[in-house]
Amino acid sequence: MSDGFGIYVHIPFCRRKCGYCDFHSIPLTQTSQDTVNRTIDQVRAEIAAHTSLVEAIGADLDQVKLPDVTSIYIGGGTPSAVPAAGIRAIISDVMKSFQMADEVEVTVEVNPDTASQDWLQTVFDAGANRISIGAQSMDETVLHTLGRPHGPGDVEDTVKAARAVGFAHLSLDLIYGAPEESLESWEQTVEAALRVQPEHFSVYGLTLSPEAPMAAELGCRHGSIREWEVASEDSLAAKHDLAVTKLEAAGYPRYELCSYGVEGHRSRHNMNYWAQGGYLGFGPGAHSHLPAKVTGLAGAMRWCDGRSVDQYSEGAGNQIADMDVVQGAAARTEMVCLALRMKEGLDMSTYRARFGSDFVDDFSGPYAQLSEDQLLVTFGDRVRLSAEGWLLADHVMAQFI
Ligand code: SF4
Repeated sequence: MSDGFGIYVHIPFCRRKCGYCDFHSIPLTQTSQDTVNRTIDQVRAEIAAHTSLVEAIGADLDQVKLPDVTSIYIGGGTPSAVPAAGIRAIISDVMKSFQMADEVEVTVEVNPDTASQDWLQTVFDAGANRISIGAQSMDETVLHTLGRPHGPGDVEDTVKAARAVGFAHLSLDLIYGAPEESLESWEQTVEAALRVQPEHFSVYGLTLSPEAPMAAELGCRHGSIREWEVASEDSLAAKHDLAVTKLEAAGYPRYELCSYGVEGHRSRHNMNYWAQGGYLGFGPGAHSHLPAKVTGLAGAMRWCDGRSVDQYSEGAGNQIADMDVVQGAAARTEMVCLALRMKEGLDMSTYRARFGSDFVDDFSGPYAQLSEDQLLVTFGDRVRLSAEGWLLADHVMAQFI
C-alpha cells in the first residue's frame, strides 16, 4: 500500500460537451457564471472544512493521522474552462489546509482550446508543476467526429505555451478507436504527438456508454452500440499494438495499462491510486479513499461527494452521496485488480503480509485458468499481465471479481 497521499479537485465545467462524454460535465453554454463561481466557492469551503468530512465517515478525529500530501490533481471537466484565478485560489487553499510533503506533484488538466499562456502562467505561479493536455487526436477529422472543440494546431500551441511558462512535465491524453478512424490516421496521431515531446502519455481505447451523445447515432448506423464495438475489435487491437510499439521505441516505457512515461515522469498521483493509497476528493462527484491505517477504522473508507452540481450545491459542498467500507474479499479483489494494471504487477508477498493468506489460494480458479491461457505470467513472487493480457485486461480483471 502506498505511503503517498493525494488531493483531487473536480471542476465539472467544460466549454461544450464532447460526443463520447458520459462524465458529469456541464457545458458553459448551459450554465451561468454565477453557478461556476458558486461551485468554486463551495469547493474552497469544502477544502477548508475537510475535517468534518472525515468525521462524517465515522472516524475519531483524535485517531486520524493524515499523511503529508504528495500530489494535488485538479481535473474535470475542464479546469482551463474556468478563470485561472479560481484554480489559483484552490491550489493555495489546499496548500494551506494540508501538510505538504517536500516535493509535491501538482497537476492541472487543460483542454487545448481554453489554456492560454496567461492562464497557464497564473496556475504555474500558484504552484502547478505538471499539465495534462486533452489532445485525444492529431487528426482534424477525428477530432471533429469526437466533437472536440480544438484542432491539432491548438495542441501544439498549448505545449509551446506551457513550455514558455516553465512547465517541465507535460502529459498528453490520446484516444484511439473513433468511428471511421483508420489505422493510418492513428499512426499519424501518435507520430505527431511524439513530435511535440511531452514527458508522458495516457492512451485510451474509445468506449461509449449508451448515454454518450454520439452513441445514438452510431447505434443507428451499426444496429447497436455493441455491434459497433464488436466490428471495431480487430482494429482496436491493431491500434493498441501500434501505440505500444511506437511509444516504447521512442523512449516512453509503458508502466500501467494506459500510461507511458519517460524515466522519472510517472504520474505520482495516479500511482498512489493504483497502490491503494489515501486521497481526499473535493468538488461534485469527487471520490475519496482513506485506508484503515489512516483512520483507525476496521476497513478502508471510500466515498463520493454529491454527484451533480445541484446535489453538491444543496449539500453546501459538504455532502457524502455514497460511502463503502472496503474490507475482506472486496479489499483483496481491489488490490489484485489495481496491482495488475501496473507493469510490475502484484507483489504476492505484500498480499500475504496484508491478508495473511496466499493470492494463489484465494484466487486459485482464475489464477490457474489465466496462467494456462498465458494472460498472466509469474516471476518469483510477482504475477503480472502478459503482452496478450494487457490487450485483454478487462477480461482478466473480470475473472477476479
Ligand atoms: S472535455 Fe472531457 S469532461 Fe468535458 S465534455 Fe469533453 S470529454 Fe467530457
